[in-house]
Amino acid sequence: MDKRRRIVIGVLLAAVFLIAVSATDIYIAPEAGRVAGEEGIGVVVTILPQADFVKNVGGDKVQVTVMVPPGASPHTYEPTASQLKEVSKAKIYFKVGSGVEFERAWMGKIRAVNPDMQVVDCAKGITKLGKDPHIWNSPINAKVMVEHICDGLCQADPNHEAYYTENRDKYLQELDDVDAYIHGQLDGFTENRVFMIYHPAFGYFANEYNLTQIAIEHKGKAPTPKVIQDCVNKARQYNLSYIYVAPQFATQNAEAIAHEIGGQTVFMDPLPRDYIANMRSIAASLSLEME
Ligand SMILES: [Zn+2]
Repeated sequence: MDKRRRIVIGVLLAAVFLIAVSATDIYIAPEAGRVAGEEGIGVVVTILPQADFVKNVGGDKVQVTVMVPPGASPHTYEPTASQLKEVSKAKIYFKVGSGVEFERAWMGKIRAVNPDMQVVDCAKGITKLGKDPHIWNSPINAKVMVEHICDGLCQADPNHEAYYTENRDKYLQELDDVDAYIHGQLDGFTENRVFMIYHPAFGYFANEYNLTQIAIEHKGKAPTPKVIQDCVNKARQYNLSYIYVAPQFATQNAEAIAHEIGGQTVFMDPLPRDYIANMRSIAASLSLEME
């Protein structure tokens, strides 16, 4: 593919991404059309993709609060007093359970404000890759998380068990479909299966689809000039043209590396509101590099 076409596609992807980011706060605003007197059970989650999972399984029977809001990072975010008040009214908390910093720092406090709340660990049964907490960025892991969410909702609200399990089965099928789609997009590339990214949130994705993720950020910190130079060297070694960035993190260092290699930055969101649409967009973004 020639450079001009690549740039046009990059710009289109960025536009799609911005539209996705600017979508309404569907999980934060109260649900429209809710039947009066039927509030739905109070559910709290740590990150936006979990809210999407809960809404897909729980539909109008749940009211979801997300602790780490859009644009914030679960590695650094601190909850507000009004969020803790929401927690105090909730019936279930679905934690990611992978050791993400927000939960390490705040689960004690969160349990203390609502000791009766059921806490469900969405990571149970998922094989951890070292210290990487980003388990949700693999549709196969997402299926496990969705199973835990369904089990938790059925336990808390057994009257609607048939509704939850039917929704779960439908969503698990969508996750299988997107998994097949990603394989279809990426499996054909045999030569270059390496990508460089500022914040390494796609280790589980890389593991699932046999790709290699190279991080610019080092142990959660901005890269030193030496690390930046190493990244430029590696990008040249692997003949990379794209540097992937997330909207929740500063992009200057990634842009500097992209400039050095005559490439460009491309957004990939590790914390989407619409998980399935985002997975498709990630496959498209990564296929740019692999072509
Ligand atoms: Zn992260």
